[in-house]
Amino acid sequence: QDARHTGEDVVLYSQQLDAEHRRRFTILHDFRQALDSDNQLYLHFQPRLNLSNNKCQSVEALIRWQHPTLGVISPAEFVPLVENTSLVREMTDWVLQRCIEQINLWHQQGCSLQIAMNISGSNLDEAGFAQRILSALQEAGIETRWFELELTESAIVSHSKQAMKQLQALADAGVSIAIDDFGTGYNTLTYLQEVPAHVVKIDRAFVFNLEQGPRNQAIVNAMVNMAQKLGYRVVAEGVESEQSCEYLRTIGCDEIQGYWYSKPSPANECCALATN
Ligand code: C2E
Ligand code: MG
Ligand code: MG
Ligand code: MG
Repeated sequence: QDARHTGEDVVLYSQQLDAEHRRRFTILHDFRQALDSDNQLYLHFQPRLNLSNNKCQSVEALIRWQHPTLGVISPAEFVPLVENTSLVREMTDWVLQRCIEQINLWHQQGCSLQIAMNISGSNLDEAGFAQRILSALQEAGIETRWFELELTESAIVSHSKQAMKQLQALADAGVSIAIDDFGTGYNTLTYLQEVPAHVVKIDRAFVFNLEQGPRNQAIVNAMVNMAQKLGYRVVAEGVESEQSCEYLRTIGCDEIQGYWYSKPSPANECCALATN
């Protein structure tokens, strides 16, 4: 124990811990109901800008939760909690169904958008996961090229043999695989030799302050070059300014995503960007 803490500090600290535990408990408990309700969960979509033709051809689906009493809860808060439980399977299935409906809706509207959907590492440990995705796409009559799966670098690094087989099956069927939050795994890059991925998404930690100096630029430049030499398409996440976008264009980055081009938005707003 730290002798500098007064008794009062300890009480405050334990009250705060208590509140955090309660909130976590509530979130997990209520997420079950959110999945069953038809109006608490919804998706926003964040467009990506293809720098070679200045078009939006792909959008990322991001889950949102309007809690009945707590208000909007960020996925950065609830997804990691859900990921540690068996509810993660239902969450991913819910997102998958919504993405499939949305792709079909957009395509009917003449809006040729691809959707990139986030999955959790533990999804790949579920037996039959790859087959579930492929069957769902097939039943809805959607070609696999309209669908991309994003998996974080840390989820890939801690993969099992079984997980890698499922990724391979998805890739073999034509689903695009993206390595999300690239550069944050604090790991060797040896996994790049074996993971069947097509896209690398450079984490926004490296991107958001690009215009602030040559050091940040040197890091991003090296990442883009390396990933492209290995055959990946490169998307820079978290682009918040025109200068950053222009820098990324100069070094030949393939696509950008970020508040500067567009915030995550309701589906109908993306269609307008894509058809322009
Ligand atoms: P991510 O997949 O890396 O998504 C990017 C996050 O960065 C999103 O936060 C997005 O709103 C935010 N972002 C985009 N552009 C900018 C920018 O220019 N500046 C800044 N500061 N932020 C930007 P969001 O929507 O809160 O999602 C957080 C994380 O939650 C996601 O990170 C992803 O890991 C997870 N997540 C979201 N939806 C899902 C889902 O449907 N399934 C799973 N498994 N995870 C999800
Ligand atoms: Mg993502
Ligand atoms: Mg990311
Ligand atoms: Mg992230």
